[in-house]
Amino acid sequence: MVRNEAGWKVIVVGAGFAGLVAARELAWRGHDVTVVEARDRIGGRAWTDERMGMPLEMGGGWVHWGQPYVWAEMQRYSQDIIESPKPETVYWITGGELKSGTLADLDQLLADPMAAIFQDSATLFPRPHDPFRVLESEESSDELKAAFLAADQGSVLDAVRGGEFSQEQIDLVDAYWSAGYNGFTASASPMMAKWWVALSDNRLSYLDDLTLLYKLKNGMRGVYEGIASQIPGPIRFNTQVSRIDHSSDGVTATLSDGTELTADAIVVTVPITALRQVEFAPALPEPTREVIEQGLNSTGLKIWVKVRGRHSIMAYAPTGNPIAMMKSEYFLDDDSTILVGFAPDASAVDPEDIAAVQEVLRQWVPEIEVLDTTSHDWVADQWSQQTWATWRTGQLTGGWRGFLEPSSRLVFAGADYSTGWNSFVDGAIQSGIVAAHTIDTWSDQG
Ligand SMILES: Cc1cc2nc3c(=O)[nH]c(=O)nc-3n(C[C@H](O)[C@H](O)[C@H](O)COP(=O)(O)OP(=O)(O)OC[C@H]3O[C@@H](n4cnc5c(N)ncnc54)[C@H](O)[C@@H]3O)c2cc1C
Repeated sequence: MVRNEAGWKVIVVGAGFAGLVAARELAWRGHDVTVVEARDRIGGRAWTDERMGMPLEMGGGWVHWGQPYVWAEMQRYSQDIIESPKPETVYWITGGELKSGTLADLDQLLADPMAAIFQDSATLFPRPHDPFRVLESEESSDELKAAFLAADQGSVLDAVRGGEFSQEQIDLVDAYWSAGYNGFTASASPMMAKWWVALSDNRLSYLDDLTLLYKLKNGMRGVYEGIASQIPGPIRFNTQVSRIDHSSDGVTATLSDGTELTADAIVVTVPITALRQVEFAPALPEPTREVIEQGLNSTGLKIWVKVRGRHSIMAYAPTGNPIAMMKSEYFLDDDSTILVGFAPDASAVDPEDIAAVQEVLRQWVPEIEVLDTTSHDWVADQWSQQTWATWRTGQLTGGWRGFLEPSSRLVFAGADYSTGWNSFVDGAIQSGIVAAHTIDTWSDQG
């Protein structure tokens, strides 16, 4: 496996999926890798923790064989999947009224407005792992390029506001994407929704399967611990990188205690919003700095709620309600159910306040009794300051592109920087592999 005997010195910042994979791949190719991690654990925004008497995913949880990089790692470390239950009843709030139906009823209401949002996704993303193909290809007409740029403007809901759809449909789409963007739909770029569905063969039902149906039997930790076990040398925990000097000859990373680490190259996997805490010299391009300062659209919360009795449900509520989407995940032997929920605004829900969470749930199921709640606030967490990467208007075709082309020995990797399943564990792994390969190629060239 080792083919580069001289080996470069490489610093990897962050021990989430991207950093762990980059470190493993670089070590396998004979490079001398130092991983520095601000937390006291590996996994980053994937974190299988014991809560409510069982392993629960505080961050990323769902996977699918249609996400090739995470699937490959699952096979490598012998990790199996289980299926999330399909709900018997779906509840939704519209115009202050509660409605209910089956999953088929929901699908029917969503089909046409979602088709309006996805209308041009196949044309704009003909090869979704090469997202800017349309902009960069000489074969694209000026109209197509203009349509691509326009797809990054306005809000994801603009396509459904033309008068063609009922308020009920608009409210459902709003709730769906408030959960999907884990943030406010008003500031959510339509481009991300189009990209996600293009990655899903342009089918909404497949997008749902890819992102919400299968989870790991042993949790994400089975995969990230497997990857970490193949990294030689210790990971330096509780170690924050606060400054990176980078050039075409090498890099210096300055830690928060002033220690300087020098290397031939560096892989930075810090989530984009948390990059506010890292100074770059020379500075990153102005539009890229603007994206960092603005932060991503990912301002929400994932919350676990244990309720008395068996409730096989899914529930939606549009902007203005604290929780946009909830669904049943585990039916326990003690006659209780664990639900998972997604809220667009982490500051609008106090996951510790059982009575307040119960009040939110009672909008959908009037008698429901909440026994316990748990969550991790990734927006308040210093080392993420956001949940999964979701995009505000203009960011993808604007400053985000500045992360993608290395101009020195500094390479960004991570779900937030992935050109494939961006935002997902799959994208984190993909970009870690690509970053390692990029640096390995540079080292070959001397
Ligand atoms: C609530 C939630 C639900 C999600 N659901 C899913 C899902 O169902 N399926 C899916 O595929 N994905 C999901 N995701 C997304 C997925 O978990 C992440 O995109 C992925 O884990 C990110 O990996 P990463 O390595 O790119 O970044 P991270 O995991 O964030 O790793 C970056 C690491 O860098 C460290 N760091 C930050 N700043 C510094 C610094 N200055 N110095 C040193 N270290 C630093 C951090 O502590 C962290 O460990 C979810 C995410 C969240 C938050």
